[in-house]
Amino acid sequence: MTTKYIFLTGGVVSSVGKGVTAAAIGRLLKERGFQVSVQKLDPYLNVDPGTMSPYQHGEVFVLDDGAETDLDLGHYERFIDISLSRVCNVTTGQVYAEVISKERRGDYLGGTIQVIPHITNEIKRRIGLVSKATGAEIVLVEIGGTVGDIESLPFLEALRQMRSDVGRENSLYIHVTWLPYIGATGELKTKPTQHSVRELRSIGISPDMIVARSDFMVDEELMDKIALFCDVEKRAVVPMVTTKVLYEVPMMLEKARVGEYLLERMGLTARQEPDWSLWEKLVAEIRREKPTVKVALVGKYVELHDAYMSVREAVKHAALALGVEVEIVWVHSSELEKGRGWESVHSSDGIIVPGGFGSRGIEGKILTARYARENKVPYFGLCLGMQLMVIEFSRYALGNEEANSTEFDRSTPYPVIDLMPDQRDIADMGGTMRLGLYPCQLQPNTLAAKAYQQDLVKERHRHRFEFNNAYRKVLEDAGMRYSGLSPDGRLVEIAEMEEHPFMLGTQFHPEFLSRPNRPHPLFLAFLEAVLKRTGLLPQPANIESVEAKIE
Ligand code: GLN
Repeated sequence: MTTKYIFLTGGVVSSVGKGVTAAAIGRLLKERGFQVSVQKLDPYLNVDPGTMSPYQHGEVFVLDDGAETDLDLGHYERFIDISLSRVCNVTTGQVYAEVISKERRGDYLGGTIQVIPHITNEIKRRIGLVSKATGAEIVLVEIGGTVGDIESLPFLEALRQMRSDVGRENSLYIHVTWLPYIGATGELKTKPTQHSVRELRSIGISPDMIVARSDFMVDEELMDKIALFCDVEKRAVVPMVTTKVLYEVPMMLEKARVGEYLLERMGLTARQEPDWSLWEKLVAEIRREKPTVKVALVGKYVELHDAYMSVREAVKHAALALGVEVEIVWVHSSELEKGRGWESVHSSDGIIVPGGFGSRGIEGKILTARYARENKVPYFGLCLGMQLMVIEFSRYALGNEEANSTEFDRSTPYPVIDLMPDQRDIADMGGTMRLGLYPCQLQPNTLAAKAYQQDLVKERHRHRFEFNNAYRKVLEDAGMRYSGLSPDGRLVEIAEMEEHPFMLGTQFHPEFLSRPNRPHPLFLAFLEAVLKRTGLLPQPANIESVEAKIE
């Protein structure tokens, strides 16, 4: 079938959940038997978010093919249960880099290179790559930012042109806006939505659907008003009230008959009846009162929870499977260094030290790993968290506080974590780490092998430094196990401590592969250890039947 495109733009303000809306709409279409993919267009000039501070951008989500992408791609993968490709995240930086390098090569043969048509053509070429790379029949394209931003103009112009390129039936525009609430009069306001639709129209795009986000119930009258002023059918005005339960969004859109409307407008008929039983169970399970356990997340960007989006989701997925609630206690590792905030660590029954870069807060995390080891508190180290667990144990096993990673101390006499050999001559920072899916051979009789119940797994990576093999033997003699290795045996991918209920670190990022109804085995094993420590038994409900339905 001809590829169908659904374009999502944002209006009024950013951060209203456009990414989740796109992901949820993707799920609606997948439930109807279509192959779906989602692309994010980011109007910033960085080539990818890999070089950006998590404070600016939140988490960097890594794909199988090693692309460092916007965190919205995490939502797409988790909601739709698909694996995306590098072509699914496009930035202004990529577009310009391509056009300028072509110009330098002389490909344009004397032409004047301009935003229209050269930049817009390159944007359209990249939109076209998605169906080729992923086999998707319906491609959702989300544009970052808000209509009216100068940066997003070339993207919007490209989208406008797409309608005449691919035809009306093959292109739909959804505008996601925000209805502010005026406390003094107790009203929701549609005026900003009207203005933003007007702005969109002035660019030449008329929305086919408006998703109106709001913190409060939206009444019929208001929906009529939006339909009237924004010139969309009433059934294409979709109110979306804020929910605490993210995974409820697809069902909210289903109830608003979004799936049916979109298919009708695209001239498609559903290939199968959507089956929401799995999602209903998930949401019911999320809402059920459950016993709570506390897990401390010791990081350096903890003020911004989005910086650890996938970790938080992976914890939720595992908690759901075990029928408990996990309260994540956000701990700033620099505070721990000053002797502050330890009560949060001490009152938690498990500790996660997630990924990170640079030396700020490192010692606080190392002290956390020491506390976990000595007090037999379940510890799960993700990438940097694994490296710090190795450093902490080396300081103890080698009897020298100077053991370190060369990332933090170039001249350490004990470089137990060191730059990977193939990283030594790399000067560019962007896209040059060890990135993406690599195989990992599990070693028998280890926590990791028990958790996975498999011999060989593939996990997503994003790092420059690695376990230094010169120290394998000493640390092994002192009680460290290498439970996951690269198939050639050269790289330590998982390390764990003997005689500890669960102290395990992975060089990869397991959080990127966790799904709401397919929790990651290591997150599950970690949380089981946390429960054991609290004396709680897993209280799963419905989850077996949920799992059985996953393809
Ligand atoms: N900074 C470490 C490295 O580059 C860890 C990276 C990470 O946690 N993603 O190896």
